[in-house]
Amino acid sequence: MKYLILLGDGMADWPLPDYDNRTPLEIAHTPAIDDVVSRGVTGQFCPIPDGLPAGSDIGNLSMFGYDPGAAFRGRAPIEAANQGIHLADNQVAFRCNLVTLEDGVMKNFTADHISTEEAEEIIAVLNDTLGKEFPVKFHTGVSYRHCAVVDASEASTLDNMVRMACEPPHNISDKEVAPWLPKGDGSAMIHQMIARSQEVMADLPVNQRRIAEGKLPATSAWFWGQGKAPEMESYADRFGLTGAVISAVDLVMGIGVCAGLDVIKVPGATGWIDTNYEGKVQAGLKALDDHDFVYIHLEAPDETAHQGRADLKIQAIEDFDARIVAPCLEYLDSHPDLRILVAPDHFTTIETKTHAGGPVPFALCGKGITPDDNTAYSERIAATTDVLIEKGHTLVERMLRDSVMLF
Ligand SMILES: [Zn+2]
Repeated sequence: MKYLILLGDGMADWPLPDYDNRTPLEIAHTPAIDDVVSRGVTGQFCPIPDGLPAGSDIGNLSMFGYDPGAAFRGRAPIEAANQGIHLADNQVAFRCNLVTLEDGVMKNFTADHISTEEAEEIIAVLNDTLGKEFPVKFHTGVSYRHCAVVDASEASTLDNMVRMACEPPHNISDKEVAPWLPKGDGSAMIHQMIARSQEVMADLPVNQRRIAEGKLPATSAWFWGQGKAPEMESYADRFGLTGAVISAVDLVMGIGVCAGLDVIKVPGATGWIDTNYEGKVQAGLKALDDHDFVYIHLEAPDETAHQGRADLKIQAIEDFDARIVAPCLEYLDSHPDLRILVAPDHFTTIETKTHAGGPVPFALCGKGITPDDNTAYSERIAATTDVLIEKGHTLVERMLRDSVMLF
């Protein structure tokens, strides 16, 4: 049997007062996802375990069938895996943002979306200076998003590094950063690295050019999201399956790498509503020829909700339905030895413009799935069923392991 997961990031939402208290999934015209329910089942599951933050890292780990409580070791090591960085046992990976601070305030957590080429110049300078003064090596990522690997001399230092409280810079926009510097044992070195980065980045030619072009300079490194290499058994060992992942998002591709899956890069996959839907679905269905499992991730519903744009989120869901789910259902008609699961990884609400936990709806159809009586997909309909899978990752685990799924 083969398995296909179609993931609409942040697709679940709360009722919108401006739309008769309907959710974007209820407002959007989604005949294909409704058809998945008609052919199969719907219900609720919890991709975000209680007590963990409602992040895409946690939610997507569940959607790959891993218990985030056991597997999650921070966001940076997952991104590092995607960059081909292998962490030794005594190493901790941090996400290193290039940011713009102005008078000690987090003016811009992306350094005004600095280009990768410009960032490369800065990362080289950081390696020539901080890299020689501290046990750290910087790796260039994309735009403002980079990786810093810190060597810990002793196990206690390693544990301190992992436990340190580091604030994501996107949470402190326009705030004074001093109260948000890393806290905990061992944080003094990170404070020194941040201060030193500001010295070496001041007056760099790349920053002078940016200022001349009317752009913000990158004035500081900011460290967060740290952790050791995640403890994840590969799909081959865990399920005896080969697999592939298709996404525009580093984090999701990184989980795929950690799970031993092939990462398929699709040109024009942007993470926005203009993404290459057809390219992603073609690559995904082609991958099913020689893989057992394929994960197609669509970021647009999440991004549009972060902007608070109900209209764009509805459009993103309709595009997901017509351009991703519909062709996959057609594929199922000619390849019946297949299961298709459609789901989000968490709520991203128009009301708050951010993520939220709680049970989200899934739709599952295909081989060995006995249909229930439902014929449409929404938060409300899923909540009327008596299916609530509290350990969200077990939904995928069961889909991949069991020949018969009883709900
Ligand atoms: Zn997400």
